[in-house]
Amino acid sequence: MSSFKYIVANWKMNGSLEEGCSFLRSLCDYLPFPCRRRLVVCPSFPYILPLKKYGTTLSLPLFWGGQNCSFEERGPHTGEVSAPMLRDIGCDFVLLGHRERYVHENEHLSRVKQKIFRAQKASLQPIVCFFFHNTNACTSPKELLEQLEFFYTPSFPLTIAYEPTGSIGTGHAPCPQAINKIFSQLKALWRHEEPLQLLYGGSVTEHNAFHFLDQPFVDGLLIGKASLSPSSLGHILCGIS
Ligand code: PGA
Repeated sequence: MSSFKYIVANWKMNGSLEEGCSFLRSLCDYLPFPCRRRLVVCPSFPYILPLKKYGTTLSLPLFWGGQNCSFEERGPHTGEVSAPMLRDIGCDFVLLGHRERYVHENEHLSRVKQKIFRAQKASLQPIVCFFFHNTNACTSPKELLEQLEFFYTPSFPLTIAYEPTGSIGTGHAPCPQAINKIFSQLKALWRHEEPLQLLYGGSVTEHNAFHFLDQPFVDGLLIGKASLSPSSLGHILCGIS
């Protein structure tokens, strides 16, 4: 992931199929996308495949991701979607452990770890959300890294979306330089051969995205609200502030 900056659009449970198609048509205004930026769109499950097909007819260079997957590969799990199913419809990524899933859907850490395993086995790249209570917390980079280690699997890169709780959906983003500093410390402490990729998430807008993307240790962004507007997302993608 590291030679590109990834822009991950988490649409959450928003929009209709027609709105998704209209969104993709609007994104065409921003073609060609900058070559070092990659856009990963994560719609709700039923829309992934039809939007992916529609995006292809528009020649949009998009990557697709699920917003979750089951901790099991198959079997009696009514209402769940497995990692191989996401792979089957052309997803390359899956978001795991978003804070909203802990708050509203009884997500828990051990399940997230199992989901990471399922995703990796299905050749999906998990983007694991890591959140905590504030950026100025006394937690040292070493302690943060110990928490991140929980998500690491030997032989696979670890991609984390680092989200301060107070910044998710609140309009209060931390200073990009402070995030860069934490990321540089975490990467300096990382002792595994496989890369540690760190995305920032929380109240990213078309106005502050550029400042985050400009930071050398920030590998990309996880964007909620601003990713629902094609013009905001297009501006973020093209680096226009
Ligand atoms: P936001 O959401 O960009 O709307 O703050 C981020 C997230 O939910 O990951």
